[in-house]
Formats: sequence, C-alpha cells, structure tokens
Amino acid sequence: MTLPPMPLSSSSPVLLVTGGGRGIGAAIAIAAAAAGHAVAVNYHRDEGSAHSVVQRIVAAGGKAVALQADVAQEDQVLRLFAAVDQTLGRLTGLINNAGMLAPQMRVEDMSAARLQQVLATNVIGCFLCAREAVRRMARSRGGAGGAIVNLSSMAAKLGAPGEYVDYAASKGAVESMTIGLAKEVATEGIRVNGIRPGLIHTDIHASGGEPGRVQRLEASVPMGRGGEPEEVAAAALWLLSDAASYCTGTFIDVSGGR
Ligand code: NAP
Repeated sequence: MTLPPMPLSSSSPVLLVTGGGRGIGAAIAIAAAAAGHAVAVNYHRDEGSAHSVVQRIVAAGGKAVALQADVAQEDQVLRLFAAVDQTLGRLTGLINNAGMLAPQMRVEDMSAARLQQVLATNVIGCFLCAREAVRRMARSRGGAGGAIVNLSSMAAKLGAPGEYVDYAASKGAVESMTIGLAKEVATEGIRVNGIRPGLIHTDIHASGGEPGRVQRLEASVPMGRGGEPEEVAAAALWLLSDAASYCTGTFIDVSGGR
C-alpha cells in the first residue's frame, strides 16, 4: 500500500489491530496509519516486530502504540482496551486478526490441550475483543459507531483436511459470529464484516510445521500464486471505510480464486 500519510487530528479514527506486529496484521496496521487511523498494534510475544511496525508508522508521520496482550485471556483483553482508551482515545475500528495454527495433524491425533488453545485464541479471543469494541462503539452506550473486521480463512470452507481441521473449524465459528453480531449491532452504527484470505505469504505456515506450504500449494490457486499481506490489507481498509457503508455481515475472499 502506498497511500500518502494524512495529518492526524484529535478526531482521527482509532483502530486496534490484534496481532498487528507481523504478517497480515502488520500490513493492515501500516496501511491504516497511512489512511489516517491512529493505530494500536497488539502483539502477544514478539515485542520487537510490533515496535518495528510502530516505528515505521511514526517515521511516516502517523500515530501508533504497541500493546502486549494475549487475546485469549479476558483480563489481558480488558487491560488492552483500557490502554487503547488511555493512549489513543475512543475506538472506532477493530481488526480481529490475531490467530494461530498448531502443527499439521489428523483429527484422530489432536489433544484436548491443542483444541483448547486453538479455539481459545481464534474464537474466544475474537469474541472478547468484539465485545469490548461494541461496548465502546455502540450508540446506545454513548459511542459513535464503528467497524469490526474479522479475519476468517478460506479454510472455513475447505476444511483443511490432514492439516488443521481444528483451525478451519475455528474460522467457521468466526464466520457465524460475524453474521450474528452484524445483525445484533446493525442499528448501533456498527458494521461487522469478515475476510477470507487464501494462501498468503506469512510466517503462519512455518508455525504449522511447513514453511514452504504456500509454494507447495500455489499451483492449485487459479491465479497461480500465493497472496501478499498487503493484498489482504487493501480489503480490510475498504471494509473499515465509509465506502463500505451498506456492507455488514458479509465476507471478502482474498484468495486468488481458490
Ligand atoms: P502470523 O504471521 O503467524 O501472525 C500472527 C499474529 O497473531 C502475530 O502478530 C501474533 O503475535 C498474533 N497472535 C497469535 N496468537 C495471539 C494471541 N493469543 N494474542 C495476541 N496475538 C496473537 O499470521 P498471519 O498469516 O498474518 O495471520 C493473520 C490472520 O489471518 C490470522 O487470523 C490467520 O488465521 C488469518 N489467515 C492467514 C492466512 C495465511 O495464509 N497467512 C490465510 C487465512 C487466514 P506475535 O507477533 O506476538 O507472535
């Protein structure tokens, strides 16, 4: 994204990007700052990457802070949102991006601990952050509305057999939440939408045990290549913007046709 930096005023939109230090989240944070958002860059463990994103935004004339929290832990989510309130002001946008994969395996080999970690991060984390965002944005609570964008995955439709059916199922839950919450808060001035990335070049594939997964599978993509985080960020920025003012409870596939 090469949008020109915009001057920030006290009325700048305030965006929280969970997992904003690396991969797709980092690309969204950088693109949003360039479009005029003050950005809270949440991270879990990789403080250095989150600070690099913040430095890059600040160097370009934007406003950003790095905030640590595990989105699966309610006390940490409450602390995260309180820190956003204090440092940047009232939230206008949330990108529910933080997500994880566990090593590739068949369902018959999955432990309960693995399932709990995947679902806690990808589903409960998404719910907790959406809840806190709604509490700040809802008109009935004195808010001024806003937009939530949830990162699903094409895996929600494809199922990820032999790799991570648990991850795919977690994204199915994110999609149901997106549809239901969108209807629940539609008259509160809050839009809730989702994005289904396909095979995107980030570190997430290495964390599942196969760093070359995108290269292995890209021949199966109709466009013949993996995607870049910036291509997902472009969709997220559009869904956040007033250009998407009549879109809620819907999804954009960013998957090269896969
Ligand atoms: P990534 O490069 O592995 O980055 C994941 C980010 O999530 C990191 O910033 C990480 O924080 C953060 N995170 C993980 N667990 C967290 C937790 N418990 N609390 C807070 N933050 C946490 O992943 P990505 O590929 O950019 O994926 C971003 C989103 O897109 C995910 O929801 C993923 O499921 C979805 N997606 C990705 C692809 C793809 O092909 N890449 C495809 C479909 C969907 P640290 O930096 O601190 O570790």
